Amino acid sequence: MSLIDSHAHLTFPELQEDLDSVLSRSRDAGVDGWITVGTDTDNNLKAIALANRHDDIWATVGFHPHYAKDVSAKDLDVMADQVKDSKVVAVGEIGLDYHYNHSSVQDQHRIFKAQLDIATKANKAVIVHSREAFDDTIEILDKYKDKLNHVVIHCFSGTPEQAKLVIDKGYYISFTGVVTFKNAQLARDAAAVVPLERLMVETDCPYMSPAPMRKQKINEPALMIHTAKKLAEIHDIDLDRFSDIVGNTTREFFSI
Ligand SMILES: [Zn+2]
Ligand SMILES: [Zn+2]
Repeated sequence: MSLIDSHAHLTFPELQEDLDSVLSRSRDAGVDGWITVGTDTDNNLKAIALANRHDDIWATVGFHPHYAKDVSAKDLDVMADQVKDSKVVAVGEIGLDYHYNHSSVQDQHRIFKAQLDIATKANKAVIVHSREAFDDTIEILDKYKDKLNHVVIHCFSGTPEQAKLVIDKGYYISFTGVVTFKNAQLARDAAAVVPLERLMVETDCPYMSPAPMRKQKINEPALMIHTAKKLAEIHDIDLDRFSDIVGNTTREFFSI
């Protein structure tokens, strides 16, 4: 069994302190590859450095929509250069977040598009963060659809209808531990309509541990096994087979 955490923030201080133990617990649980996702200039640098120290960690670089207002033209140039690193497998996480609106909608659109330009030029996969911004996210992606390599909507929180639309566009969907939460039937219904050839699993750690480990304050990749089990159950398939198929989906998505 071999699963890959398609979206982790291994460079965040909560996990950095004892990363070797975090990775070893993860391997013991059957999660033995990790995509560490960048969020800003400093974090992108850390992600690349970490990925270059480990064969089984890959990095992405991008500016989270929260920080859109602070991203300069020079920052984007630096990122466009970082994307070329051999361990950088995607641009992300990028997108729109209308829940927190830490940056204006206008700034978020501008920086999202600028990074989609970078991804298309570099022919890299894209990890999209979209919160309470589904229609605008799809509308912007539509403009790039023919030029983009692979697209995943991470931490998917939409309806089954929205999931179907994303799949029809040719994109992928990644689910967090939210699918294990008692009150998250909608997320499970959405997961049920996503073919395993388009589905990925993630922790988005250090945030939001899955059930039955919700009390564990710092989420970590070892706990992703609970999310994988739930998704396998939803798809009525055993965990080994699920891991084979979804492991392949993830490797193909990131070309790793
Ligand atoms: Zn996100
Ligand atoms: Zn994230």
